[in-house]
Order: sequence, then structure tokens, then C-alpha cells
Amino acid sequence: MDCIFCKIVAGEIPSKPVYEDEWVYAFYDIAPQAPTHVLVIPRTHIASANDVTEENAELLAHIFAAIPKIAQLCGLENGYRVITNVGEDGCQSVRHLHFHVLGGKKLPETMV
Ligand code: AMP
Repeated sequence: MDCIFCKIVAGEIPSKPVYEDEWVYAFYDIAPQAPTHVLVIPRTHIASANDVTEENAELLAHIFAAIPKIAQLCGLENGYRVITNVGEDGCQSVRHLHFHVLGGKKLPETMV
């Protein structure tokens, strides 16, 4: 499968790691939109949040349990934002489920 984030998980494309475990990989976004901008992805390929099911919900719970650890590692004790874009209208450019963790400053109140 020609998926850039699968290649990052496999180490075929370099990335700057922040956190990793059996199910999750987190790394710095190549084009940061905030002082801290980390992408949190499942190691297995799930196309988007629209492909979350009862069968893979445990993995999603694990991702959300990892996010506070990632925030702590990044020093985001004052808060942060978690975003996932879905599909064409959501402007999802990489079709491998990922959560943007953004922080390091007071973020704009809305993103639209
Ligand atoms: P989205 O537009 O929600 O699909 O987000 C995709 C994100 O992946 C964007 O913020 C890109 O900057 C980021 N991105 C794309 N390629 C890479 C890469 N090789 N390493 C790190 N981040 C990347």
C-alpha cells in the first residue's frame, strides 16, 4: 500500500519520534501549525476516523490514552488541541488516521 504514514511507521521515511508503543507512533509534523505540532497515528493502517468501528475501538481508546502522555512529554501542561481531519471536505491530505496535537501557545478560538 502506498501510504506515507505506513512508510514512516516502517522506518522507510524518516521522522522525528516523540512517543511510541506497541500500537501507537507519534512524531513531529513536518509543517508545524503551532509551536508544538505532533501527529499521533496507529501503527496499523486505518484510513480515517470514518473507518473506526466496534472492532478497532480498543485501538482508538489506546491512542487517546497515549495522547496525555505525549502532551506531558511535550510540556503542554497549559493545554492543547486534538484534531483529526476526515476526507475531502475535512481537508485530510494523508489517508492514514492521525490526530494532530497542537499547543505551545494560546490557539485561535476556532479553526474555521
Ligand atoms: P491532514 O491534512 O490532516 O491529512 O494532515 C497531514 C499532516 O501530515 C500535515 O500536517 C502534514 O504537514 C503532515 N505530513 C505530511 N508528510 C509528513 C512527513 N513526511 N513527516 C511529518 N509530517 C508529515
